[in-house]
This record gives sequence, structure tokens and C-alpha cells, in this order.
Amino acid sequence: MKRLLLAAFAIIAFLTPSCMQQQMQQIAYNSKVVVLDIGHYFEPTRGGQGARTPDATKGGMIEETEFWYRYAGEVKKTIEEAGYSCRICNRGDVPNDPKLAAAAEKAGVHHVKSPIPTAIYRSTHHPRRIAVGMLSTNYALDQQPGAVVYLHHNSNSARWRVFNKGAFYCNEVGVRMAQTMAQVMSRDILDTPDGSGMPNNGVPCGVVLRTDGRKGGGDWLNACNESYVPAVITEVAFLSNPQHARYLNKHENAVKFARVIGRGVVEYLNQR
Ligand SMILES: [Zn+2]
Repeated sequence: MKRLLLAAFAIIAFLTPSCMQQQMQQIAYNSKVVVLDIGHYFEPTRGGQGARTPDATKGGMIEETEFWYRYAGEVKKTIEEAGYSCRICNRGDVPNDPKLAAAAEKAGVHHVKSPIPTAIYRSTHHPRRIAVGMLSTNYALDQQPGAVVYLHHNSNSARWRVFNKGAFYCNEVGVRMAQTMAQVMSRDILDTPDGSGMPNNGVPCGVVLRTDGRKGGGDWLNACNESYVPAVITEVAFLSNPQHARYLNKHENAVKFARVIGRGVVEYLNQR
């Protein structure tokens, strides 16, 4: 009898973690919630703290945080029109720029208000994961999402330089989502035959699996991965590429770009 009890305990101990994992997998798989994170944060005197164009000669300055304050609402709209629920967050506080504050309010941005937005914080869900900006990921995983998208742009030079190897960086469970988003990006906006799309010299949008820990938000992706939540960092447009900057400086193009990101997420969720 005693031996039987011990065996039963051993089986329970063995099963419990995998049951928990299965449950987490099911929650993510069944979730209709998408969380968008506006990258970096807005600093009251210096403005958006992300990448920016080298200068204003291509139709105006673009800074990625400010760009996404203006256009994250378009990504959200696309996702919600398809029947999913979408929440937007940012690691910082409400921008003191009245136009950006109004855009944030309109899009319903939740400000996480990290006490020091440039400091490293720990994941509450997976405590061995630490990163700058982790409080956004804590918020995102609190929503029990089916997908998380970190809205960024890239830049690889302080000077103008044509560079076309943009990509969606993703976690392991997010590879399919990133592939779908890249396909939609290449199909609907990069070098479209009618010439209305974003010029990219024939280079399709890439996908990069990132498991390298703290580097560039790697642990946001890892924390999501450990909750079985597909997560993607958008690094498709290069603000140091004059062709991309000129394109995104037109309001209707920026809306189109944001909507293509939303469409990629929707196509992935519809095919799950
Ligand atoms: Zn960024």
C-alpha cells in the first residue's frame, strides 16, 4: 500500500509540470487577445527615445516611439475589425506632447510607468528573464494573450544608407506568426508591382529567430516563449534608409504600413 502511494505521488509529481504547461499552451492557443507594445518610451524634454532618421531631409524627422504613438491605433483597428481584442502598452509614462498624448488616449494606450525606463527589470512570470522594458512584457503576459507584437523600426547607421534586410524577430513559438507577417509584408507593401508600396530593392521581409537572452529584447521573447505566447519584434523599416524614411513620412503610407502589420497578425490568428 505504502509503495503504491509513493508510486502515485511520483506520478503526480511527474505529471503536474507538464499539465501546467499544457494548460498555459491552451490559454495562449485559445486567447483572442493581442498585445502591442510601443517600443522605447517618451522622455519629457528629449522626446521619443528610440531610433530616428539621421535628419529631416527625407520629408521630416521620424523617431520610432513617436511614430508608433501615432500609428499603433491603426494596427489595433485592423486586429479588432477581424474580431480579436487588442491592447496597447508602453513602458513609460504618457507623453507630454499634447498631440501624442491625444493619439495615446484615442488608441487606449496603457502606460506601464516603469520607474526607470532605461533600467533592467525582472519578469514576474519567468523570474530568470530580465531586460530593459520588461515591465511591458509583464503587462502583456498578465493579459493572457494569444500574441504579443513589439512595435519598432530599425536603424543601422547614423547616416543615410540604403539597407533592405528588415525582419521580424521572433521567439520559437512565434516562428509561424513571424513567417505569416513577413509574407503579408512582402506581398502587400514591399515593392508592390503598382509602385505604391515601400521600396525595398526586391528584398523580401525576413524572419529571425532570437533566443539570445538579454540582447535587444531577447528576454521579452524568451519570457513570452515560456508562456507559449508567440511574440514578434517588428524591425522591418530602417529609419536610416532614405527610401523607407521618405515612404513612411507620408501619412497614408504610414497608415498602410501599420495596417499591414495588423493584417499579418490576423492572418496568423485565423490560421492557428
Ligand atoms: Zn526600437
